[in-house]
Amino acid sequence: MRLILLGAPGAGKGTLAGLLKSSLNIEHISTGDLLREEMKNNTEIGLEVKKYIDQGALVPDEVVTRMIEKKIVNQEVSKKGYMLDGFPRNESQAKDLTAILERIKQPLSYAIFLQSTLPVVIRRLTGRRVCRDCGATYHVSNRPPKVEGTCDECGKSDLYQRADDNEETIKKRMEVYLQTTIPIVEYYKKQGILRQVDGDDEAENILEILLKGFDEDREQN
Ligand code: AMP
Repeated sequence: MRLILLGAPGAGKGTLAGLLKSSLNIEHISTGDLLREEMKNNTEIGLEVKKYIDQGALVPDEVVTRMIEKKIVNQEVSKKGYMLDGFPRNESQAKDLTAILERIKQPLSYAIFLQSTLPVVIRRLTGRRVCRDCGATYHVSNRPPKVEGTCDECGKSDLYQRADDNEETIKKRMEVYLQTTIPIVEYYKKQGILRQVDGDDEAENILEILLKGFDEDREQN
């Protein structure tokens, strides 16, 4: 299965991706995670993208599209299936993705849109904590790790707050989202592959609804 996850920052894409990964055994490819990895390793790309990320702006399309292309043309990844989290983020990236997938004859299965409200995303983002080692995400009150400060997934004790999860940068990221990401929801609606879910709902409930829908579609085809 080949999926993309659309939604505001804090809509719960990462949390849902973790659950989908276990249920469907597909790869989770997050452009945000890939870019943060480049920054952590001080690579040329990492140094180039830091200024955009710190300001809550989008990184140039060529950088992210090249990264994604490299991942999805990989035979092992495409055979296993994947979900793209944080890509595409604007119409130009969506069209580039369509062109790449047409070239390799692997159309998307679904575009999943998590629609959420502003107070919920702000609460989620300001309380979000991320494992520096494996990228698993937590929330200080809604989804704390079993042992305080320690990642449930990999057992390392390095949970941190992302530099761009502060109120000012969140505001900028929301503006960017409304201007550039919302139009691509329409793009996928026209293609007939959009599935909209309530992003304010618990991730486990969203997962159940999605899996049921996938099963029903399979039975009908
Ligand atoms: P995320 O982890 O998805 O919230 O992404 C964090 C930041 O990485 C964003 O605010 C952007 O600066 C950058 N970024 C992630 N994905 C993309 C993308 N598809 N296009 C441009 N910039 C991106």
